[in-house]
Amino acid sequence: MTVTDLVSYEDVLASYEPVMGLEVHVELGTKTKMFCGCSTTLGAEPNTQTCPTCLGLPGSLPVVNATAVESAIKIGLALNCEIAQWCRFARKNYFYPDMPKNFQTSQYDEPIAFDGYLDVQLEDGEVFRVEIERAHMEEDTGKSTHIGGATGRIHGASHSLLDYNRAGIPLIEIVTKPITGAGARAPEVARAYVAELRELIRALDVSEARMEMGQMRCDVNLSLMPHGSEKFGTRSETKNVNSLRSVERATRFEMQRHAGVLNDGGVIVQETRHFHEDDGSTTSGRVKEEAEDYRYFPEPDLVPVAPAREWVEELRAGLPELPRLRRNRLREEWGISQHEMQSVLNAGALDLIVATIDAGAPADQARKWWMGELARRANEEGADLASLPITPEQVARVCALVAEGSLNDKLARQTIEGVLAGEGSPDEVVDKRGLKVVSDDGALGAAVDEAIAANAAVADKIRGGKVAAAGALVGAVMKATRGQADAARVRELILEKLGVQG
Ligand code: ADP
Ligand code: MG
Ligand code: ZN
Repeated sequence: MTVTDLVSYEDVLASYEPVMGLEVHVELGTKTKMFCGCSTTLGAEPNTQTCPTCLGLPGSLPVVNATAVESAIKIGLALNCEIAQWCRFARKNYFYPDMPKNFQTSQYDEPIAFDGYLDVQLEDGEVFRVEIERAHMEEDTGKSTHIGGATGRIHGASHSLLDYNRAGIPLIEIVTKPITGAGARAPEVARAYVAELRELIRALDVSEARMEMGQMRCDVNLSLMPHGSEKFGTRSETKNVNSLRSVERATRFEMQRHAGVLNDGGVIVQETRHFHEDDGSTTSGRVKEEAEDYRYFPEPDLVPVAPAREWVEELRAGLPELPRLRRNRLREEWGISQHEMQSVLNAGALDLIVATIDAGAPADQARKWWMGELARRANEEGADLASLPITPEQVARVCALVAEGSLNDKLARQTIEGVLAGEGSPDEVVDKRGLKVVSDDGALGAAVDEAIAANAAVADKIRGGKVAAAGALVGAVMKATRGQADAARVRELILEKLGVQG
């Protein structure tokens, strides 16, 4: 592997303007494949979800999945695209073992959706508009596993295994127009765009868009042009980047690498590249084919797709609130800063907090539990917040018990701990562990008397008018009652018994 000298990020920006193009593939969550009735469920035994059509056997005929078309139109509409009146599929011809038909059924010059935009919000709140070239429908390939090589790559492998369960799963490819004007923020814009797109796809309920599962993957195209130039440089295309962080790192790395090549008087070859998670670098893949190498032609076995305008308008009317607008609305309703909202998003807590509020909890309490105690637990266990064994309804119930005075903060914490440990619902945990706040004066009075007797000097200070010292006695009573006393009532009792006004 030859390593180009990387130019420092500051030096890249001093001489060049980055131009990006992001191609995002989304696997749709339809029950069946794009052109046949085979199941798309993940995790099945290899080659058990195949048929003559997705195996490309002679004589088989494809049929378009209507739900996939509907999803594609929804995505197009949410991206402010125009929806084609009439469009066709095209064959993209190339040979690869994981594609048994020897062509991929895709769309070429007649995409279902085109000319749109997505507004993305950057960390500081600024909104950056990314223009969309097109969104088109296609199908996924099968999956190759190379055996015997050191890195799982085909190099050095003794043989390869093929699983066609994934062949024919519907994909939507969303391609941006060249993104200019991002400057130093190009890596941040790339990340924010993919993040926003992921939220959008989830809000539309067309895919879970889990990048770590390959349900959403991004190709990062990047080139540099000298300041003042209007002409784009040659791009590299880093393929299948599969996390938000990697999208950001790959963009940054390619900027530094391109500048190194260009500064040395070299030329950038148009090629695909692989991204390496371990050190954030990219290495050369294959020299890029031109479109004509694929010998695209209209698919003769499928009828054109001509979505009725009424249907398109019906779908438009049914679109959910866009994620960015929803986030801003919630941020205002909850009265939190951009930065606090960012933490909520990073923690994956937004929908959980909303569900907790819907179940009756006040917004600040819902946020406090999910972002505090529960986030800490998830972090410790390296788990997602959503996978903790507690529901938003249960968190809301704990909030209600606190609000009615049955639990204080400490007891609420223990209740949540019990729920997480599988001891049952909040009420069951409170019962089994005996966690009710003690506010009955008889029980508390004895503990208060003991605390006064054991801390005579403090009691004298309070009698002398130093009411602030009461905190120490409250603390002693709380300790003696293992945190179960009603602290406000304890304080009242102490002052009463010492004959001072609170
Ligand atoms: P291909 O299939 O060859 O990758 P596409 O048109 O599907 O071509 O995608 C190319 C992507 O790269 C698009 O997002 C496009 O806007 C972007 N792009 C095109 N030219 C450049 C360039 N010179 N520098 C950076 N990005 C570019
Ligand atoms: Mg491409
Ligand atoms: Zn099939």
